[in-house]
Amino acid sequence: MDKPGLAGEGIPVAVVACPDYMPQNVSRALRRALDLVGGLPAFVPPGSRVLVKPNLLQAVPPERAVCTHPVVTGEVVRSLTDEGCSVTVADSPGGGTRYTERNMERVYRVCGYAHLPEETGCSLNHDCRYREITVPGGSVCTRFPLIYPYFQADSIVSVSKAKTHVLTLVTGATKNLFGLLPGLEKPLFHSRFPDPAVFSDMLLDLLLAVRPALHIVDAIVVMEGDGPMSGSPRPLGAIVVSPSALAADIVLCRLMGIDPARVPYLARAAARGLVALDGSGIDLRGDPVSMLRGEDFRIPGTYASEKSGFSIPLVFRVVHRLGKVYQLRPVVDGSRCSGCGRCTVACPSNAAALVHGRARIDPRKCIRCYCCHEMCEQGAIRLERGVVGALIHAIAGEKRHEE
Ligand code: SF4
Ligand code: SF4
Repeated sequence: MDKPGLAGEGIPVAVVACPDYMPQNVSRALRRALDLVGGLPAFVPPGSRVLVKPNLLQAVPPERAVCTHPVVTGEVVRSLTDEGCSVTVADSPGGGTRYTERNMERVYRVCGYAHLPEETGCSLNHDCRYREITVPGGSVCTRFPLIYPYFQADSIVSVSKAKTHVLTLVTGATKNLFGLLPGLEKPLFHSRFPDPAVFSDMLLDLLLAVRPALHIVDAIVVMEGDGPMSGSPRPLGAIVVSPSALAADIVLCRLMGIDPARVPYLARAAARGLVALDGSGIDLRGDPVSMLRGEDFRIPGTYASEKSGFSIPLVFRVVHRLGKVYQLRPVVDGSRCSGCGRCTVACPSNAAALVHGRARIDPRKCIRCYCCHEMCEQGAIRLERGVVGALIHAIAGEKRHEE
């Protein structure tokens, strides 16, 4: 089972180079990484029922680097069926997508998953019911609605996609678990937990509640820039495997050249004593991170100017609280908006609405969760500062140079 990871425990994290999505290359790299952490049976009992949880954020093709590549998920399934496991592949797409059988069919087809049952012997989940679990020890959240396959499996194997993220800076193993919440529950959670630190605590509560057995991260082609939906694909050439989501994500940060202290959920995990940000509790195995690390990784605009997600100058925090004028805000590009309405469904605060067939956002209602940006398949939602925010940014930027 998952060890969220205390410093000094020697938690294994395997990093193995994988140049591309050729099935033989992915198979070889994955099996080597699994061997390096102690072998699949050390974490998943042979013959058991396993929920394989990829990141299927949206119905977009694999080359966009939005979702876990089907070749990676397929090879993970093969590794499990080789151990006699019965495997269900399941995820709930992002908050703008209703969690229905019809929508899942489209996601599986467009994301390249439709052939997996025939090729690997797994089942693709079509049961879109969900149930709640109670988490008595949760720090900020004590109840989670979870998709049905969670209740039918003996263990979870997370197969996440490495990306930048406008809200959490990085998404990998830990954030992938948010997809266990059914579709439209996600915007509700964004509404309940609008503060990045509290949202992070909620993610950690979820991780500790569901405790996946193993985390596999598809970092072969990752996303940089304004992820998780509107960034750019970038080859990184690695597969990361660990029984600890937090340890895997810290190593992922190193591969992406991002300071883990800037990632809100990792900073909160460190504050809660779940992990050491300097990696002192991690037993790194496999290929050298220095060989694979990406230089000059483009981070999201929401983080580009902050020195640290949790050490930002006090003025920033005050301004954040006083009117959100500093934070980047979503702005609709009417020339690209198709009027599909996905952003209005995703918006947890009813700030986004369709007016004359185009999206319009009410900045007074907007809580800056960026769900709309995440959901827009047309790239019609930009994130930018208003006049006052830009002014504060200019002043604060000057100040940081003086430090
Ligand atoms: S902004 Fe994007 S998601 Fe919203 S209606 Fe327009 S195209 Fe659809
Ligand atoms: S309009 Fe604001 S509150 Fe609504 S989804 Fe977009 S960022 Fe979130």
